[in-house]
Amino acid sequence: MKLFARDRVMEFIKSSPAFLLDLIYPRRCPVCLRALPPGKTLICPPCRERIRYVRDPVCFKCGKPLSDETRELCRNCEKRRPSFEQGLSWAEYTSDYTRRMMNEVKYHGDPQLLDFPCADLLTRQGSRIREWGAEALIPVPVHRKRLLSRGYNQAEEIALRLSNGLQIPVDSALLRRRAETKAQKALTSEGRAMNLMGAFQVSGPCTYKTLILIDDIYTTGATAEACTRALLKAGARKVYFISLAIGHDDTRQSPL
Ligand SMILES: [Zn+2]
Ligand SMILES: [Zn+2]
Repeated sequence: MKLFARDRVMEFIKSSPAFLLDLIYPRRCPVCLRALPPGKTLICPPCRERIRYVRDPVCFKCGKPLSDETRELCRNCEKRRPSFEQGLSWAEYTSDYTRRMMNEVKYHGDPQLLDFPCADLLTRQGSRIREWGAEALIPVPVHRKRLLSRGYNQAEEIALRLSNGLQIPVDSALLRRRAETKAQKALTSEGRAMNLMGAFQVSGPCTYKTLILIDDIYTTGATAEACTRALLKAGARKVYFISLAIGHDDTRQSPL
């Protein structure tokens, strides 16, 4: 009888490694950071209720939420038409919950917290993303220094999580970040755009026609624009982008 029970346990261990891993290292809720019960849960139900998803009306180009539904474009896209085709995001960065989650991922080194937002984004927008017909996901590169201190590039972590569901490979080697740019926070949006232009370079000719840029947060679009220009110059025909969080057209955005 004892042996039987032991066999059952062994069977369980073999069939549910993820469940056991959750028992030993409990997953945390990406919003409140509390340990989650082992199993398939990636977020606690009350936190899920409080996510502010991106909903219409949105900017036709970058997908930023607008308050005025008679408008077609947000103020940034109106001022300077982006070179990318279109973009979409999972949730509004301006919501406290999303902001806390993104900061946690960015500064406290736990990419597992990205599991839920990425899975949820795929559930909600997967079919639309597949319609773009992209051949590769390109994470926005970070500086080497930042990569060393954080241990990972959060954009790459997002790309890897989306790649499985979309069946589109990640190419992290194509786009590179050139030299250290000045701290973006200290600059105006114009200065930020200028500073970023030329900060990205493509290693070798780009053989893809259609690409999707992946980043964690979209605010003014300066980073997406700089990356898109580098990719188009290298031979890409169409560039789309996905970010997890996006600012609101009406909110003064924290520069990132
Ligand atoms: Zn929670
Ligand atoms: Zn826009």
